[in-house]
Amino acid sequence: MTSMRVAQVGSPGQKFEIVRRELQEPGPGHVRITVEAAGICHSDAGFVQAAFPGVRFPLVTGHEVAGRIDALGEGVSDWKVGDRVEVGWFGGNCGHCVPCREGDFIDCTRLRVPGWAYQGGFADSMVAPVSALARIPDELSAAEAAPLGCAGVTTFNALRHSAARPGDRVAVLGLGGLGHLGVQYAQQLGFETIAIARGTDKEPLARELGAHHYVDSTAGKVADALKRLGGAKVVLATAANSDAMTATIDGLTHRGQLIVLGAVPQPLKISPIQLIMGSRSIVGHPSGTAQDVQDTLAFSALKGIRPMIETVPLDEVNDAYERMLSGAARFRMVLTTGN
Ligand SMILES: [Zn+2]
Ligand SMILES: [Zn+2]
Repeated sequence: MTSMRVAQVGSPGQKFEIVRRELQEPGPGHVRITVEAAGICHSDAGFVQAAFPGVRFPLVTGHEVAGRIDALGEGVSDWKVGDRVEVGWFGGNCGHCVPCREGDFIDCTRLRVPGWAYQGGFADSMVAPVSALARIPDELSAAEAAPLGCAGVTTFNALRHSAARPGDRVAVLGLGGLGHLGVQYAQQLGFETIAIARGTDKEPLARELGAHHYVDSTAGKVADALKRLGGAKVVLATAANSDAMTATIDGLTHRGQLIVLGAVPQPLKISPIQLIMGSRSIVGHPSGTAQDVQDTLAFSALKGIRPMIETVPLDEVNDAYERMLSGAARFRMVLTTGN
């Protein structure tokens, strides 16, 4: 292979077009990856629409990438050609900003997100720094591994660093791309798991994924439903809906945490008193480092956790992207290259 297909967006808000580009050579500390699968994340829409600062066009997005290394740059010693690797939201860090100097790499002020800082994974091939690489265990196919680099690590890492301990009640708000993984991780991490979604249609799925309880958010006050179950130590808010998040806060136990994952600009309408009584807190949670991605992949293999995916060939990226945007995807769209 001397050239590759990329799915590029020419200018903000335009459709994807498949074009051919020369293969890139990996520089020092980088590897080249033959892409096998790439998940479509909701934040890809933020890049396509240029809603994030500094997005450059033509744009090749994609930060849930699974493939295998096909070339090593100078000085790469811990990886070899043929290794199966994932590149997620964490695409490398600067190493010298204050968060990096404190060892807090995911909060790097110059965090390099694939598809934003450099060419992402909607392509046959990409180049990434070794700091972005996570090993994919044999049990996971590339298409299964791909969404775990953003949707998976975000939910798994949030839960394992949360206030909840095994046996505590954890509620997962929303049952979409993140939430359907969050329920599985919560159950497998040993939490009494409550799924919250709109209507009753999703209850059988929630139970199948391991939820012990189901709350229909349209059937009454969500906080009251949580209180009747004894209250939640953690609400993992995956739904991109500030009002739905707000509605859970009185359902938290003392020292309970609302962990905010659903990225929306609308403010949460929560009073200081709601936080003070019961020493509750609200925390944002971004994702995880490459090692966190690797831990997510390993835990998923160990526990039989898989994302529910629809695979679509790279050439049909526009259809897949539309399905993601419209909410029709069940639950993660994954582009496959055939490589
Ligand atoms: Zn993402
Ligand atoms: Zn940094």
